[in-house]
Amino acid sequence: MAEEKKTFNLEVVQAGFANGVAQGFPLSDQEKSDMIEDATIAFGNFLDALRCDWRNDPNSADTPRRVAKAYVHDLWAGRYTAMTPITSFPSDGYDGIVIERNIPLTSMCSHHHQTIGGVVHIGYIVGQEGSVIGLSKLNRIVEHFGRRGAIQEQLTAAIHQAVDKICENNLGVIITVVATHNCVSCRGVKHKGAAMVTTKASGVFRHNGNDARQEFFNSLKINNGGHQI
Ligand SMILES: [Zn+2]
Repeated sequence: MAEEKKTFNLEVVQAGFANGVAQGFPLSDQEKSDMIEDATIAFGNFLDALRCDWRNDPNSADTPRRVAKAYVHDLWAGRYTAMTPITSFPSDGYDGIVIERNIPLTSMCSHHHQTIGGVVHIGYIVGQEGSVIGLSKLNRIVEHFGRRGAIQEQLTAAIHQAVDKICENNLGVIITVVATHNCVSCRGVKHKGAAMVTTKASGVFRHNGNDARQEFFNSLKINNGGHQI
């Protein structure tokens, strides 16, 4: 069987919400550039409201445009730009566990628009007649859902559902996200270093104490720079 390119509908959050795609997704280049123009004006108004003389401050004069571009092209890119189609391959008899650990995560909390930073660990078990996907596609899934507003619990579920759908006929999928939230360290309680750990598991990973789940968590401890989750 040749490799297959498929497009999956992976979205569950209502379009328009910060952790969903934008209305009209995916946006054309022209629509993105119009959005940057509108957002530039709006962020200038925001700075005005904060009594910031940004127009005369050489460090801030272009800040509204910088911020608008950063949201559209980077911070919220997953709301505007589609993921490239995922290529899946037949597993050709491999029926073991597939794990990618330490996938970098950069996201932003929907509540405070502060950075969420950390790592995502993904595991799945290919079934007979199942599909495997190129390793970098797992990174792309993390980018697609991370690059928008997020709350960590929902982000974990979104990544889980995407891997579950794309790796068809799998026997189980497990996602663990370990992340620090700038809104906790820089505002409010102002505690640095507190990390949040969320795990969503299905299929053979579902129950505590089973072998697959144990193998996944054990593998995260091996050669992991001394960090344990
Ligand atoms: Zn927050």
